[in-house]
Formats: sequence, structure tokens, C-alpha cells
Amino acid sequence: MKLTFWGASRQVSGSMYLLELEDDIRLLIDCGTDMERKDYNPEDYLGIFPFEPSMLSAVIVTHAHIDHTGYLPNLIREGFEGKIICTEPTFALTKLLLEDAASLNQSRLKKINAEGRKKRNRKDKKTSPEIEIKRAADVEGMYLQRQVDETLDYFTTIPLGKKIKLNQNIDMTFIAAGHILGAAHVILEVKENGETKKICFSGDIGRHNYPLLIDPAVVPEVDYLICESTYGNRQHKDDRSPEEAIFDIIHNACVVEQGKLIIPAFSVGRTQAMLYTLHKLRVAGKLPPIKIYADSPLALKSTWVYQKYISWLNEESKEFAKNHTNLFDFENLIYVEDMKDSKKIAKINESCIVISSSGMIQGGRVEHHVRMNLENPKATIFMIGFAAEGTLGYELMNGKKTIRGKKSDINVKAQVKASDVFSGHADLNDLIRFAHYQKPEKLKKLFLVHGEYNTMLDLQKTFIKEGFKDTIVPKRGDSFEL
Ligand SMILES: [Zn+2]
Repeated sequence: MKLTFWGASRQVSGSMYLLELEDDIRLLIDCGTDMERKDYNPEDYLGIFPFEPSMLSAVIVTHAHIDHTGYLPNLIREGFEGKIICTEPTFALTKLLLEDAASLNQSRLKKINAEGRKKRNRKDKKTSPEIEIKRAADVEGMYLQRQVDETLDYFTTIPLGKKIKLNQNIDMTFIAAGHILGAAHVILEVKENGETKKICFSGDIGRHNYPLLIDPAVVPEVDYLICESTYGNRQHKDDRSPEEAIFDIIHNACVVEQGKLIIPAFSVGRTQAMLYTLHKLRVAGKLPPIKIYADSPLALKSTWVYQKYISWLNEESKEFAKNHTNLFDFENLIYVEDMKDSKKIAKINESCIVISSSGMIQGGRVEHHVRMNLENPKATIFMIGFAAEGTLGYELMNGKKTIRGKKSDINVKAQVKASDVFSGHADLNDLIRFAHYQKPEKLKKLFLVHGEYNTMLDLQKTFIKEGFKDTIVPKRGDSFEL
């Protein structure tokens, strides 16, 4: 069989791996949005997929994040007719994330059409809005709600830990990966020429003892391991528990300073971990009597999904739910849906907590909360996740003191604090432990994906030192005979 790396290769996003087997069986593992794509030229761009989507037998999805699912509607649009296989909570969260992507596309298309209209008035009177939409879909892979609805019809869900026969020669099993609700590692067992070969695709690897989530499972012995490497060269530094970290920051920002605490957080995963931790502090009587605003419609919907699939969460949170029915509902917590209310909250000066997306402060409602409060010395911005270069979150985390505003520069007077307690990814030690579920002398190849290139090279060195001699960092398009 042949494995080809079509995404998250020497970069973080766009997870997509093609496995070609006997009898014309072709499996795609993940189908994520490539957020780092810089090299495309609209003039010669020939679609997203370097293979023929109609020839695929099935797609296996490790978890709902958009860098693992965001191109699924494009796959359907370009002729895929097989099944999309994932766990039930992954399906529920993917639905929300794809719908969110479609609504963002809708707004972007409006802009493109408005610009197109201006241009047409100047010269090309023949181009219609439909042609503009088609062009946007062709060139940038944009899709709308209709394509998302169609995509959802192709899903089929399977439980964790149950071996499923894809055909007489291929078995697959999902095992828990932690990371977010429903996330899984994929184990494939393929019979070829009387020999069985086992392959594990890690998807994103979560952490042990993470709020709400079950721990990542022990991976059985396999022949080939495809391993994520987001934190491949660093350890998480903050060794406090999530409760301790949140208690400390609230005490300083809201009790001592009497100010506002703004927490940028991704809507799916991070926000739920944060709300659950706050709920525990509330029950323990450790929260001051101030308002907590959860300001993201997507976060609210994802929270419902977490509550619905409580049987997929860890024992501690199930136990907690026995006494406190809803994990994400407690005194003084207010979910904000209306944009007008969100803007009002950005202006209020009283001591309160605002949790809003996006986590990197790039787009999303958190931008107006942060920008309105950058000059407020009583405000604290608490960064709880990774922020990529070029984002406002990155600038603040790296101590930048002047930020470019719409009209003029803004002097940063707010306090900026950071913690990795809520990171949803395995760190270097966790990755080493993950690799050592395998015997170095027996594992045939270890492939590194889903990380910044330099991080991958560092992790490759570490793994080789750990005895995994055949550790490879494939580039996009590299194929391997397994
Ligand atoms: Zn992820």
C-alpha cells in the first residue's frame, strides 16, 4: 500500500493523508483547511485536491477542528461519493464548525460581490454575481450552508474502541486521543499478501488530566506511526492546576485591581474547559460576585454538544454533573448572543470576566473587547493558547507596547498574562511517552506531521535519540510504500 502526505506536512494546518490499497481502495485520513497556504496563484490554481475525489472510498476524520475537517464540503463538490467516518461527538462538532465556516464565507462573498459590482460598473458589464460566487468557490474553495448540508449527509459515526470492518481486508478502530470532545487516534489493520500491517494516525494528541476530557488511550503496537508534533520541542511550563491558575488570575485582575479580565479562547474545546473550571471554583466559593460573559455564539452551541455527550467526558466531570445538572450553567454566567450586547460589554468599566473567541485575537468578537481595553491599565488580557505570528495575540504575548489601531496607534496599558495550563496539545514529554507505546526496534517508520518545520526537525532528532531511527519529516506530496 502507498501512503501520501497531502497536508500538515512541514506545517501545522491542512491535515490530509491518502492511503492507497489493493483493489482500488483509497482512504483519506482527515480533510482539513490549509491555513498556511501562501503559494497559490489564482490564475493557475486547479482546485484544492491533488487527487481525484471521486476515486476515494472513504474519509476517516480524527476530530472536528477545522484544520482537520474544513475541506470536506469541497471534497463533495468535486465528486466524492463515499462515507465520512468519525465519532458521534465529532460529527456534532464538525457540523457546527462547518456551518460557522459557511457563514464566514457568506460575509466574505458579499464583500467580493460588492467589489465585483464596482469593477463591472467600470468595464466588464457581463459578469454576474453568480459568476463571482463560482469564481470564489473555484479559486479559494469557499462554500456556503447548502454545500455544508449536503456534506453532512455523507457522515457515518462509530464508537470508540470498537473494531469496524471497512472491507474483508481492512479493519479500523478509533481510540481516545483526548484533545477535544470526540477526538480519536485511528488504528488501521490492513491484510495484504497474507500479511497484516498496522498503522496509527495520531490526529491531535491531548493531555492527561485535562478538564472534562478522558485521557489519551495507550496505542497498541503498530508497524507505522503518523504522529503530530505541535509542541515537538517544548514543555508546558505552568505546573499549577487549571483551578489554581484561574483563581490566581481572577484574584489579581478582578479583586486586587478591581478590573476587567479578558480571556481570548477558541470556541470549541478551550472555552468549555474554562467554563467548567470556573463552575468548579464557583461551587467551591472561590469566585468573587462578578459577572462572567461567555461571548461567542459558536461557543454556546459547542457547549450544548459537550453537555449532550457527557457520557464521552471523564469520570470527574460526570460525577460533578450528578450534583450540578448542567456543567456550563452557574450563577453570574451570562451567554452573549447579540453583537450589540457584545459591543456594550466591551465598553463597560466594572470588574467582570469576558471569555470570547478567537484565541489568537485574530477576528472574532474578542478583538473589540481587547482593542477597547488595551489602554485601560485596570484590564488584564489572559492568553491561554498558542498565537501564531502576525496575530494580535502574538504581538501582545511578545510584549509589544504599541498596537496599530484603525485611526492611530494604541499604547498598551492593560496587563498581559499568559499560561499554558489550558493547552489542548501534548507537549514534548507527552509526545515521547506517546512514541514509546511502540518498541523502537519493531516500529518500521515514524512520520512527523502537524507542526512548524523547525519544531519537527527538533522532534525528529529527539525521536532518533530515543531509538526511533527511521523518523521521517515528509514534505507535501511525498509517498511511501508501506
Ligand atoms: Zn485539533
